[in-house]
Amino acid sequence: MGKIQSGIIPVTPFQQNCTVLFDEETKSGVIVDPGGDVPAILDILKDNGLTLSEIWLTHGHIDHAGGADELREALGIPVVGPNEADRFLLDQLEVQAKRFGVNMPVRNVVPDRWLNDGDTVGFGEHVFEVFHCPGHSPGHVILYNRQQGFAHLGDVLFAGSIGRTDLPGGDHATLLASIRDKVLPLGDDVGFICGHGPGSRIGDERRSNPFLVGI
Ligand SMILES: [Zn+2]
Repeated sequence: MGKIQSGIIPVTPFQQNCTVLFDEETKSGVIVDPGGDVPAILDILKDNGLTLSEIWLTHGHIDHAGGADELREALGIPVVGPNEADRFLLDQLEVQAKRFGVNMPVRNVVPDRWLNDGDTVGFGEHVFEVFHCPGHSPGHVILYNRQQGFAHLGDVLFAGSIGRTDLPGGDHATLLASIRDKVLPLGDDVGFICGHGPGSRIGDERRSNPFLVGI
């Protein structure tokens, strides 16, 4: 078993961080949040000799989940996550596309497996713990690899910011509670990838992120 490597593929007009997580030795792994641009994703996988076993979704917004069904069909692998509380969003991806006025191929998606707090997911021998972190959306999950001390936080926490809470099912107080009770306890040394912009470390955000003052 090798170390987990990550590669970011910015997708959709929202420049969402579609992320490939793979074992550096076996070149097998998973993809997190393929929001769209599926042909480009497939080219990158092929060019780098990467084999995927699952598609993981952190939550049901179009820029994270809009390409999941198309990619599932192309690769014949299951879609895993988010929590079922985001079912209403995944049922309306095509409506979201119209609402945001984005011109891209989008399909509604029903995951093969919903995720709950305390579940684990993985590939090869790599295990990720699932934490349900509602607030940005009701069914948002984050994925934590304890062994290597890093997490994928989706749109919960960004470098210097936090997820928006003005979309359907969003709630600011709930998001802050998720960050306080689920994210910060992972520990200051934990590095993270997020849905937009650069990653960071939890300790850096705890000390300097203006949205976390006083929580
Ligand atoms: Zn989102």
